[in-house]
Amino acid sequence: MDVYDVIIVGAGPAGITAGIYAQRARLTTLLLEKLGVGGQIVVSDLVENYPGFQKISGSELMQKFEEHARSVDLRIEDEEVIEIRNGDEYKSVKTYDHDYKAKSVIIASGAASKRLGAKGEEKFIGKGVSFCATCDGFFFRDKDVLVVGGGNSAITESLLLAKIVNKVYIVHRRSELRAAKILQERAFEDPKIEFIWNSVVEEITGHDTVEKVILRNVVTKERSELAVDGVFVYVGLVPNTGFTDVGKDDNGFIITDENLATSAPGIFAAGDCRTTMLRQVATAVGDGALAATSAERYLSAKQRSTES
Ligand SMILES: Cc1cc2nc3c(=O)[nH]c(=O)nc-3n(C[C@H](O)[C@H](O)[C@H](O)COP(=O)(O)OP(=O)(O)OC[C@H]3O[C@@H](n4cnc5c(N)ncnc54)[C@H](O)[C@@H]3O)c2cc1C
Repeated sequence: MDVYDVIIVGAGPAGITAGIYAQRARLTTLLLEKLGVGGQIVVSDLVENYPGFQKISGSELMQKFEEHARSVDLRIEDEEVIEIRNGDEYKSVKTYDHDYKAKSVIIASGAASKRLGAKGEEKFIGKGVSFCATCDGFFFRDKDVLVVGGGNSAITESLLLAKIVNKVYIVHRRSELRAAKILQERAFEDPKIEFIWNSVVEEITGHDTVEKVILRNVVTKERSELAVDGVFVYVGLVPNTGFTDVGKDDNGFIITDENLATSAPGIFAAGDCRTTMLRQVATAVGDGALAATSAERYLSAKQRSTES
């Protein structure tokens, strides 16, 4: 039976970086990815805040990450992890086809877009409701769309949509944005973007596709209707952490210490899947490097204790 030094779950920026560090530390390493190498950022048309690249698409950036990982012979398998068990001797990492064994595990499984929770949202997914402007923006050429959210993703994606569509309404539940100031400035200057403040989407309606939304002003409680052809949702993240029972916060993000150790010895977490203030490529990369180094230290300490 093969026992890996480290198994990494997820091939986004955090997992790939952890894999590169682990390989260079000469740990036997396996990276498991359920969808395709790259993680969330592959859907982003433009990344401008990852040092070394003034402007690059998410997919191109992650292609470079993958090339780097392949150059150090990192083993990457297309498999979904469905359970991690923390045994005394080793950890068991189960997928649909295998039950892998490892001395340590790095969970870098990231997060997915949160649903809005508005009436009609589920019904119109793929028929006007989208979570990815880069993927679906093209279908709304010269039409009117609504973006929901006020963070970096919402504003970046609105700026992209404004180049394609006729009009972008951004509805935000507060009276100010959370996005980086440079993005806010661009959005405020864009003639195609109009903000609807202090408001939430109550319902999305239409026949076969989205035709209008019903908004509610959270201050005045007034309801209003807005005709739009598409709704793009950027209201936060849900962590991909259902396969592990390590300690989590109320929203399901994994709690770690400053060296990225979880509540289970030998299991570490890196990137968007953990409780942290900022979820970006740069922070995921830093986490990946730290988690792999922590795993290496954990394995060395374990080795020393068995020898003594
Ligand atoms: C639209 C959009 C725009 C963005 N723009 C920027 C930007 O401009 N700059 C920036 O720095 N950041 C940006 N981000 C954020 C950035 O994408 C994330 O912070 C970053 O990708 C987190 O990396 P990660 O490796 O932690 O997780 P992820 O990128 O989420 O990768 C996790 C990987 O784990 C895999 N996985 C999940 N569960 C399992 C499982 N059970 N088994 C196997 N594999 C699994 C997933 O398929 C995924 O590939 C953007 C995000 C979005 C959605």
